[in-house]
This record gives sequence, C-alpha cells and structure tokens, in this order.
Amino acid sequence: MTKEEQDILMKEGKMLPVMEHFYTIQGEGFHTGKAAYFIRLGGCDVGCHWCDVKESWDPNLHPLMNAVEIAETAAKYCKTIVLTGGEPLMWNLDILTKKLKELGCTIHIETSGAYPMSGILDWITLSPKKTGLPKEEIYQKAHELKMIIFNNNDLKFAEAQAEKVTDNCLLYLQSEWSKRNEIYPKITDFIMENPRWRSSVQTHKYLNIP
Ligand code: SF4
Repeated sequence: MTKEEQDILMKEGKMLPVMEHFYTIQGEGFHTGKAAYFIRLGGCDVGCHWCDVKESWDPNLHPLMNAVEIAETAAKYCKTIVLTGGEPLMWNLDILTKKLKELGCTIHIETSGAYPMSGILDWITLSPKKTGLPKEEIYQKAHELKMIIFNNNDLKFAEAQAEKVTDNCLLYLQSEWSKRNEIYPKITDFIMENPRWRSSVQTHKYLNIP
C-alpha cells in the first residue's frame, strides 16, 4: 500500500494507529473500578511535559489496524470501551465507533479536546491542557471534566475550564502522578472549599494494572 493510499484510509477512519489495546479496569474518574476494554490510539502533539505516555506521541511508531477488526476484538471482551491515547480525536472515529455501537458497546473517550469531534461517543472525559486548548464544541458535550494538577496555577486553570462546561458535567481534580504526595493535600483542601469538585486518583497505578 502506498503512503497516499494509507493516508486516505486513515482520513476515512478505516485504519487507525493503535499503540495498544487491552482488557482491564478503568482506574480513574467517574467510572473507576469498572471493567473496560481500552483502545489506545497513537499520535498526540499537545506536548504536556509531564505526559506519562510520551511513547504514544509519534503515530508512525504504531501499527495501522483495521477499525472494524479492532471493534470486533474489543467487543468480544467487554461492552464498555475506552478510547484513549495519545489524543484519540486526532483521528476519524466514525467507523470504529459505528461498529462498536452495532456490537452493543458503550463508548467512553478520554480526550484533551484539542481536535474536532468525530464518532458516536456515550461518555466524554474532557481533560483540557494549556498547551492545546479544547475546541469550543466539546465543552458543552463533556460528561466529566478531569483536570490534571501539577502546580498551584493548574487549580486556577481548572476553575476557568469548569466555567465552560455544563452544570451537569462532573468535575474531577487529579494529581500528576510524580507530584501526588505534594499535590493531593492541596486538592483535598481545595475540594473542601469547593465541594462541586471531586478527587480522582490513578488507582490502576496502585493496583499495578495497565
Ligand atoms: Fe500526553 Fe495526553 Fe498531554 Fe497528549 S494530551 S501529551 S497524551 S497527557
């Protein structure tokens, strides 16, 4: 297949760069503890300096997979699917999510929102980043706003981002992993003063699961 043919298939959403896909338990946010099949798509140019999946950034390092086949594999394990990355909205998710819906799945996505929306998405976890702000269209559709806190300024950024989502959107603060001992006490104090927020912890890292 030529590079041009490949690019067309990717643009149509027929092929997607898949870094990894696996059955596990959702570790963070509202759905913590729920069994889910994760599909981690390669590619992200948002550039968070603390990113814990930097190996996802270059999409060329990850094999292109047929979107229908990924959906069929995932749905055999579990009907809750989490699309993550990288930044999954870099890609056209129409074919993958249409097939997953045909197979009876509920589709969650974890996204920075920096790219236009595509696909059929049942649960949107929006995690805005200063280096690549979300497109306006996604704020009103997010079910969950998950802000990663690395320093005190990030709490201010979190408050500003919370003003852009709907009143029904759940608000979560989650420490960047390497800073957790320093940041969680601050998050705890902040939440007691601002009880609309909740705390999210990366439980999968304590459980040693992916
Ligand atoms: Fe990493 Fe996510 Fe930031 Fe991309 S948006 S650099 S994948 S933390």
